[in-house]
Amino acid sequence: MSELHALFGGTFDPIHFGHLRPVEALAQQTGLQKVTLLPNNVPPHRPQPEASADQRVDMLRCAIADLPLFDIDTRELKRDTPSWTVATLESLRAERGAQQPLGFIIGQDSLLSLSKWHRWQDLLSLCHLLVCQRPGYPTQMASPEMQRWLDQHVTHDVQRLHLQPAGHIWLAETPLVDISATEIRRRRHHHQSCDDLLPAAVIDYIDRAGLYRD
Ligand code: ATP
Repeated sequence: MSELHALFGGTFDPIHFGHLRPVEALAQQTGLQKVTLLPNNVPPHRPQPEASADQRVDMLRCAIADLPLFDIDTRELKRDTPSWTVATLESLRAERGAQQPLGFIIGQDSLLSLSKWHRWQDLLSLCHLLVCQRPGYPTQMASPEMQRWLDQHVTHDVQRLHLQPAGHIWLAETPLVDISATEIRRRRHHHQSCDDLLPAAVIDYIDRAGLYRD
């Protein structure tokens, strides 16, 4: 059996400690050895990230330079279609084979809006969902149907994540880190400090590139 490998998708405009700290704790709890960051492609008709795709990847590289847990996969940026997680997981599944345990990491806010994702019902046939807590978001799903779906799939047995290729939801007990990329961009535009919100190497990059300034 291959070991559990997790993917973590996001816009990362920019990456911050609200991404890194909960995922590091999740990895410790579940015995994850590798987390692949998947920066997403934002289609032209949607509000664009302030940083370019190359800059978002550069910031990921700065953030993980000393963190061997992480690597980066830029496949979503190479497509000109929206980043449908289900399509990305299908391409990874095709590469890795049916037996490879795959986890897809999301924050609690993403879990709450999961029913808006393209083909969300197919996700658990492709991966486990590994959910990090996020302050300010309810722990209950918005509808009784979604709550039932969640209850049916939640596991408290970490071994299942390693022994089965997909199909379970793990609600991790991760630190509550009250940081968003939106708040970082807002602070930068107001010339306020972001020192405790993201790695120093990423702040240096942002300064050098003149990002998130009017
Ligand atoms: P923005 O403020 O621009 O919407 P964001 O800070 O929410 O961005 P994203 O890149 O959109 O960051 O998030 C990628 C993933 O990380 C999502 O699954 C989201 O739920 C999760 N995430 C982001 N911030 C946190 C946080 N502080 N705690 C837990 N999960 C988070």
